[in-house]
Order: sequence, then C-alpha cells, then structure tokens
Amino acid sequence: MACAICTSTSFTNRAAVKGAVYVACNNCGVVYQNPIPPDSEVEDIYNHDDSTYFVSDAKNADFLAGEDWLRGSAQFFIEQLQQQYKGSLETASVLDFGCGTGILLDELQKRGSGAYTGVEMSPWACRYGREHFGLTMLNEDIMTVNLPPESFDIIVMSHVIEHLPNPPVIINRLATLLKRGGLLMIGTPYSDSLGARIFGKHWLYYLPNEHLHLFNDRSIRHLLEASNLRVQSVEHYLWRKRSTLGALAKLPLGLLQTTLRGATQFVSAKDGLIAFAQKP
Ligand SMILES: [Zn+2]
Repeated sequence: MACAICTSTSFTNRAAVKGAVYVACNNCGVVYQNPIPPDSEVEDIYNHDDSTYFVSDAKNADFLAGEDWLRGSAQFFIEQLQQQYKGSLETASVLDFGCGTGILLDELQKRGSGAYTGVEMSPWACRYGREHFGLTMLNEDIMTVNLPPESFDIIVMSHVIEHLPNPPVIINRLATLLKRGGLLMIGTPYSDSLGARIFGKHWLYYLPNEHLHLFNDRSIRHLLEASNLRVQSVEHYLWRKRSTLGALAKLPLGLLQTTLRGATQFVSAKDGLIAFAQKP
C-alpha cells in the first residue's frame, strides 16, 4: 500500500504487532500500518455515544481520573505555544481538532479571552466539554463542519494525527481554516525516539487500528510542506514529562494504554514530537 504522506510504494518492514504490520516509508520516513484499515473501521473506535474510549477498565484508561495529568500536559503545550506564537495568545482564536473532553481549550480559556472551538468525533466527550467547561464543542466531521475559511489564529492537534488514515487531506483542510500568519501545532509520538529503537515491536505507540501513522522529523516536515505550510520548528519532548510514578499508577492517558512497558519507557527518552508550522 502506497504511503499516504508521499505516495511512495517503497517501504521496509518495521514491526509486526498483534497481527498488524507497521512499515517505514523509504522515501519520507513515516511509519505506517500497512494496509491502513478502512475509514469505517477506524471511525468505529471513536464515535460511540458513551465514554468507553475515554474511561475503560478493559483498556486500563481513565480520562477523567487522569484529568490532573492531562491539565499538566495541556499546560506544557500552552507554554510551547507561548514561545512559538508571534501574536497574543490571550486573544487568539483557537481550534482544537480532536480535542477529547476539551481540557486544553479549558486551560486556554482560563488564561485568555479568545474564541475557543473544539471538533471531536466522540459525542460523549463533546457533551462533557460543553457541560463541564462551557466550551463550543462540535461533534462533526472536520472535512464538512461549517467553519469559515481563514478564521483561526491557532489550530492544535494533540496526539491526533497518528490516528488519521489520511493525514494530508486533514492538514490541507486545517490549512484552509488557518488565517494567514496563523500557527498549526502538532503533538504526536516520535518514531525515531530512543524508546522506539530499544523496544522494537513492543514500543508503546504501536496500537494497531488506532495509531496508523507515526512521524519523525523528516516525515512531519514532508506532510506540512505539502500543504504549503512553513515549518517553524520540530522538537522532541518527554510525553509524560508532567507525570509522576503516582500519577502513572492511577492514570490513564486516555489515548494511551498504561502498561508496565510504558512505565519503563517513561524514564527512557523523549518520545513525543512537537511541530509548529505557519501559514504564509
Ligand atoms: Zn512516504
């Protein structure tokens, strides 16, 4: 199956995980599940009208008990935004695509007076964000949602892009929603991290049918530049920087599975990638 990021059909096998195969594109370097499962199968994971994706004993995930940790993570992203955004973050209009329950937007609205909008596939998470944080949460498809072009100063995607079957289509769409001079921020697992190299197929972020594309610096640049965005910075960070062993014990991570392997990887290296790109 051709690479969705650069269309190359040349790849190298990288890991076989629970019956799924991850390959690395020999051209752009993205690691992707091959073949990518059909859209309908992927959407089925997220669009249930209940909390199972976010709070589930079976997945050992508890998004709500983990809210403190998620707020710490949101604060980290906001600090990065403050460094990278040239305008006033306090008054910026912000879209969070794949916002979950809206914690990042809630942290922004505590600090500022901008317009905050979330787009999220889970009806449950949208209701939660509306009821608890008073946010504008749109339970709609980002491709068809009725938002005016060039209406956002900042668009953020925190641990979302790896879930997308076709990232270029979404990045193109988000680029149309950004104002000129606006900033796109992407946080995602880092496929060249020490953890990825050491743990091989046991790497925490190989989640078949959930994590479909895993990026390194080269592939994220390729993706962003293909949508005519100007890459401002690509850096690596420790995804669980804000967590403690105590938090890990009771935690969640919502989108991630807490496993013993995960706890080991916590101490191993920067396993998150954060990219900023500007619309010229
Ligand atoms: Zn590629």
